[in-house]
Amino acid sequence: MSKNVVMVGAGVANVNAATKLIDNGFKGKITIIDMGKDPYLRPYEEVMTGFLGAGGWSDGKLTYHTSIGGQLSKYCGEEKAMELFDQVIDNFKRFHPKPEEVQCSNPIAEPDFIKPYFGLRLFPVWHVGTDYLHEIGKNWYDFLVKGGVEFIWETKVTAIDFDNSSVFYVNAQNTRLLKYDELIFGVGKSGIDFGKVLAEQYELPTEPKPVQIGVRFEAPQKHFQKLIDISYDFKLYRKFEEAGVSLRSFCTNNNAAYVAVEETYGDHSYNGHAKKDESFRNDMTNFGILMEVQGIKKPFEWSRDVVNKLQKDGTGLYYSPTREPSTTSEGKNVSAIKVDTLHEITKAMQPYFWYVLDFIEDMKKVFPSLKDDWGIYVPEVKYLSPEPLVDYTNLALTKYPNVHFVGDALSARGITVSGAQGTYVAEYILDN
Ligand SMILES: Cc1cc2nc3c(=O)[nH]c(=O)nc-3n(C[C@H](O)[C@H](O)[C@H](O)COP(=O)(O)OP(=O)(O)OC[C@H]3O[C@@H](n4cnc5c(N)ncnc54)[C@H](O)[C@@H]3O)c2cc1C
Repeated sequence: MSKNVVMVGAGVANVNAATKLIDNGFKGKITIIDMGKDPYLRPYEEVMTGFLGAGGWSDGKLTYHTSIGGQLSKYCGEEKAMELFDQVIDNFKRFHPKPEEVQCSNPIAEPDFIKPYFGLRLFPVWHVGTDYLHEIGKNWYDFLVKGGVEFIWETKVTAIDFDNSSVFYVNAQNTRLLKYDELIFGVGKSGIDFGKVLAEQYELPTEPKPVQIGVRFEAPQKHFQKLIDISYDFKLYRKFEEAGVSLRSFCTNNNAAYVAVEETYGDHSYNGHAKKDESFRNDMTNFGILMEVQGIKKPFEWSRDVVNKLQKDGTGLYYSPTREPSTTSEGKNVSAIKVDTLHEITKAMQPYFWYVLDFIEDMKKVFPSLKDDWGIYVPEVKYLSPEPLVDYTNLALTKYPNVHFVGDALSARGITVSGAQGTYVAEYILDN
């Protein structure tokens, strides 16, 4: 029997899943529904939706370590996880117009000058760059269309009936129904509300998650060059075990580095990306300073409340002792309200903002030229909604074995992990 596979979301996870199926001569039908646009029509400002999802318009840093970007080895073991990562990275190179330009940074030892203030996580990362991702997206999309995948664009899935294996979406003002044998749910961050609604509606058992919140830090790159030369996407970290707080620098962008505004639940938060093309060079660096806080009773609700308190006039906040907010790669102002003191930020994030300030103070010691030449966009947040409990062998819901959750919808936080989860599910479908 040939199977009917429906994928909700054309993000990194499902694009890799579909590629695995096509590469292995899958005989069934593959339909992918996405509320965004195909890579030829997707405009720059649609950061979260469309072909390759948030990953397609991101900075394209492909991390290669199982403790970065979400969980994978928990499901399939360390060795299998690395093999799946290889497949995802190979796909990005395969559809790249100039694969030789994908650079790998692979630090092998912690430099002495960051000790004793910080630890540095050591792992390889491939850097693709936002502009090349757009070209990769087009080549990849053409491959899938040629392979027979049907895409339904600019169409939001509004409901899923797990009991009757049906997906509902609105098209030309009519609600339509699509039946599936296997469903892969990969709606990413932009579909986080939808995932939560389904979890509540079907009373899906979940695994609890910690809070991850902080700021997007921005400064001229020259202050950090010494470390960037060792590790492009450096991950400085420190732990306050008794307080249940750990901090890390996260998703570093360099050379042509821009701060990006994300919109989740109607609130603004910040992220960053970097372009490869020299014409975009601004010699800036930006990275998240993210705190993981254990022990908060309702972490998801707590994070939403804090993010909401950090909004002013419909957007987030910017603070700097000396600088002004930057512009986007399109030359527009990054949406943020500048505040002159840290009062509002401290109040909203209490009692935790102290840890971020302490992190910045110690960076000033490690990178002495930094002084007051920095700014922060607030907040940066990773909403780790309770993760649905899945069968570890195929990421299917324990209550619905033909519904697989992948990518950010299953608490991934990165391209490689999300793509690998999609590939893992596709391998299961091929084997069965
Ligand atoms: C600005 C930015 C920069 C980033 N940079 C990096 C980076 O450099 N390296 C890294 O590893 N990670 C990065 N990330 C994170 C990474 O992009 C995500 O972890 C990854 O894309 C998740 O893949 P996914 O397939 O789960 O979801 P996504 O790639 O987000 O795709 C989800 C898709 O689902 C669609 N969708 C959602 N809801 C519905 C619905 N109801 N109906 C139909 N379609 C729907 C959306 O339109 C979207 O296209 C970045 C994220 C952002 C926002």
